[in-house]
This record gives sequence, structure tokens and C-alpha cells, in this order.
Amino acid sequence: MNPGARLLILGKQGAGKGTQALRLSRHYVVPHISTGDTLRQAIRSGSELGREAHRYLDSGELVPDEIVIGMVRERLTRSDTSHRGFVLDGFPRTVTQAEALARILSPNGLHLAIDLEIDTASVLNRLASRRVCGDCGANYSVIDNPPRVPGLCDVCGGEVVQRDDDTEAAIRRRLELYEAETAPLIEWYEDRGLLARIAAIGSPDEVTERIVTVVDRAILHPPGT
Ligand code: ADP
Ligand code: ZN
Repeated sequence: MNPGARLLILGKQGAGKGTQALRLSRHYVVPHISTGDTLRQAIRSGSELGREAHRYLDSGELVPDEIVIGMVRERLTRSDTSHRGFVLDGFPRTVTQAEALARILSPNGLHLAIDLEIDTASVLNRLASRRVCGDCGANYSVIDNPPRVPGLCDVCGGEVVQRDDDTEAAIRRRLELYEAETAPLIEWYEDRGLLARIAAIGSPDEVTERIVTVVDRAILHPPGT
């Protein structure tokens, strides 16, 4: 069996992080950990975390570092991730979160941080046509990838809707925060020899193939060996 992998995905909103993270988690047989999905589930379940996080998600603001770091720490110390690894999607998003992640993972670092590169004009189009399953988080596009039955998820039969934060104002705010808070992480990982830049254009299969090629190389030849 595939030996697993410790990966994270960076990239603007709409770059395809969720789609690629799901594919990589199947390929390397490791859990897909999406902080956005975890927070949306908490909101739907009405838990204390959900009540706390709700207003941040609706306005496109970042949930405070200590909340998301606690959430991820709890998930990464369960046995499935400590044995086989993980694909992190949407975390870290600030330098404080990246530093916390390095401490949580120590002494085993990441294999690779993958930056999905795409221009802002393309992501605005993708986000406007994006629809998601409210139950399992599967992504659709009303333009080039609609569900087979309109409004119903192909994977789980859940309702396919537009995300509450895919409004023009919240999208603008999320992209602003990406530039200010998350884009500096690209250099942060590059400085540590852990960054792979991947063009996020072309079909999802093409993008996955590009990523798997560099990840397999990084697993065979870790930095510093
Ligand atoms: P997107 O990348 O399209 O903004 P996500 O599903 O990754 O979507 O995140 C949705 C929202 O969840 C964010 O706008 C933010 O409010 C919150 N969130 C997710 N991950 C984090 C994180 N690592 N730190 C702070 N807030 C987060
Ligand atoms: Zn679904």
C-alpha cells in the first residue's frame, strides 16, 4: 500500500484547493483536513465552535488563530494522521498558524507545501459559478461541472447550493485577506525548502498529475538529504 504523505495546499479562493486536496487524500490514502469544511459543519450542527465561528465565515473574515490552531492540533494528534499523514486544505492561513503547525508536527515535518497558482480574474469567474454540496462539501460549477441531477449531489444526494460567503463582498474580502495574510506563507515555505509551485490551470486531472509528480519526488528525496 501507498506509504502516505504529509501535505498542505495553498492558493487563492477558487484555485481548486478543495478539489485537489480530496484527490490527493484518495491517492495517498490519508485524511483530507479542510478547516473551512470543519467550521461549516460546526455551524450546521449548532455547536459552541459553530456559534463562535459563524460571523467570521459570513463576512469572509478569518476565524481567530487560537480557535483554528486548537481545531487542527486536535485533528493532527489522532492516530490516522500521526501514522499515515494528511492533506491540509485551508490551513495554515497566517504565519502564526504556520509556526504552530511546525510545532505540532515536530519532529516529523511536512513533505511538501503545494501552491496552486492562478490569476485573480480566473478565480472570480470560478467563484461566481461555484456550487457546493451542503452535506459532503463536493464542489460543482454551474458552467462546466453541474451535478447530474440539478440541485442534488452526485456523491451523497445532499442539496447543492451556493455558499453563503460566495457573495461579491465576502469574496473581495477573502481575496484581500489572502494577499495580506496567506500569500506571505509562499515565501515562508520556500525559505524552508518545502514549496512546490503548481499551475492551477487545465483540467483537474492534469493538475493532480502535476502535483503527484512533485510530491512523489519530495517523498523519495526529502529536503536536506
Ligand atoms: P475559501 O478558501 O474559499 O475562503 P474555506 O472553505 O477554506 O474557503 O474557508 C472559509 C472560511 O472559513 C474562511 O473565509 C474563514 O472565515 C474560515 N477559515 C477557514 N480556514 C481558516 C483558517 N486556517 N484560519 C482562519 N479562518 C479560516
Ligand atoms: Zn454531497
